[in-house]
Amino acid sequence: MKYLYSILIFSSALLITTTACNPQAEKVSKEKVSKEKVSEEKCCEHHATKTKAEADTTTRIHKASCRCGNLTATYEGPVPERRTLCHCNSCQSRTGTAFSIQARFPRDKVTIEGESSTWTFPNDEGPEVTYRSCDSGGATYHFCPTCGTTVYWDIAAAPEIVGIALGTLTDPSFPAPVISAFEAYGHPWAMTAGELEAIRLEYDELKEKLQELEQKKKIN
Ligand SMILES: [Zn+2]
Ligand SMILES: [Zn+2]
Repeated sequence: MKYLYSILIFSSALLITTTACNPQAEKVSKEKVSKEKVSEEKCCEHHATKTKAEADTTTRIHKASCRCGNLTATYEGPVPERRTLCHCNSCQSRTGTAFSIQARFPRDKVTIEGESSTWTFPNDEGPEVTYRSCDSGGATYHFCPTCGTTVYWDIAAAPEIVGIALGTLTDPSFPAPVISAFEAYGHPWAMTAGELEAIRLEYDELKEKLQELEQKKKIN
């Protein structure tokens, strides 16, 4: 019973993260970057307001990197549809913060560079797992042996997919997650983080960086 919840939650984890990529979205587009049209709808009483966005099929280059820059994952293609915010215990531990953001990228469009160390969850070592999590179906995490950042992971149930931690893109223009998961394990304040008092500072260098990112990602 080591993985008490593995089978039970396997299907729910799949629901959250394994919707097949839209084949239409793989078509290379030379159109100018267009902002996603976002609408909001109430999902159900168990989920917070869900954001639903029209698929943007514009091809862009996104580069995920560890902090020291030795481990990178570069993706070229449309923004993946399955972008998730997760409050589960695994994600809290992995990121060291209240929740994670990640997306599923087609492996054949991802180029990995640099050495990584790996760790697989669940495994036969360590204490018994007593919680449900988004990776109970099995995942092998790749992190930088120098700085420790987890950049990407393999998903046991979906070998054609690479999960990438969206924070490693350091790209505030990357579209928002489309679903929030495992709220029952989350910090209550994190469900309404947008309502916290915000101190907004405008840095000139940040504005320039955002403009550079947009230019680099456009394929002309
Ligand atoms: Zn590193
Ligand atoms: Zn999770």
